[in-house]
Amino acid sequence: MSYLEEEDYSYAGEALIARPSIPEEVSDEDWGDYLFMRKNPKGKHIEQWQHSSGCRKFFVVERSTIDNTIYSSHKMCETQNRLNNEKS
Ligand SMILES: [Zn+2]
Repeated sequence: MSYLEEEDYSYAGEALIARPSIPEEVSDEDWGDYLFMRKNPKGKHIEQWQHSSGCRKFFVVERSTIDNTIYSSHKMCETQNRLNNEKS
């Protein structure tokens, strides 16, 4: 079990929010969902964090919102590769 030190790292919102590929073809409601609607689970959540007092890179963390348990962390490019592999 490990914890993020919030003095060194900044929460940067839910991860894996896909921008619509052709925004002009998305309804206003779907565009609003893309911009504003986020999950707020009790339990495992996939989040973006930034090493704000270090290299300033963003990365993806699977974290429990209950007790801050970190299940995994990945570079942004690793996460994108994993998503692409799941699609194919
Ligand atoms: Zn860093």
